[in-house]
Amino acid sequence: MINTPVIYHIDHDDRIVACNAAWESFADTNGWHSPKPAVVGRRLWDFVAGREVVTLWKELFTVARNRQVTYEIPFRCDSPDWRREMSLMVIPQEQDQIECRATTLRLLPHPVVTATDAAGSQTIAEALIRICSWCKKLVINEQWTELPDGINRLRVFELSRAPALTHGVCPTCRQDMLARLQS
Ligand SMILES: [Zn+2]
Repeated sequence: MINTPVIYHIDHDDRIVACNAAWESFADTNGWHSPKPAVVGRRLWDFVAGREVVTLWKELFTVARNRQVTYEIPFRCDSPDWRREMSLMVIPQEQDQIECRATTLRLLPHPVVTATDAAGSQTIAEALIRICSWCKKLVINEQWTELPDGINRLRVFELSRAPALTHGVCPTCRQDMLARLQS
């Protein structure tokens, strides 16, 4: 089970249009009780907890669609019994569809929380992450960083609680806007 990727396709509106059989066993272990027929047609975000997490994933999907670039993002998806370290391949397709391939990298009995784990994730979770409202870059170590890179460096989706976002405008976008206003 650990090596069978859960594959699903979403349309331009993030609605699930297809998923493979692995979804069912995955949903079962999560206690979702969402058989495959009930999943197709639903928005992906119905299955993702947390407003900030949803916002970040949505932005990442937008970047992937716009650039037609595949990203691999590590994330955590714990079930009642398991701590699950996973990776999601976000693969842009035609007509703004996206193929998502979720692979389980590590499965550990729940709960496994070490002191450093808890302290580390708490520090990041309690910090505000500044995101540019225009280009969606994130501030990491006081540097504006491209969204996919920033998400991976912060390991945002592996935290038990997502950090809060604060919106701003990065210097590049600010300059760009000023130039537009003056022209
Ligand atoms: Zn910007």
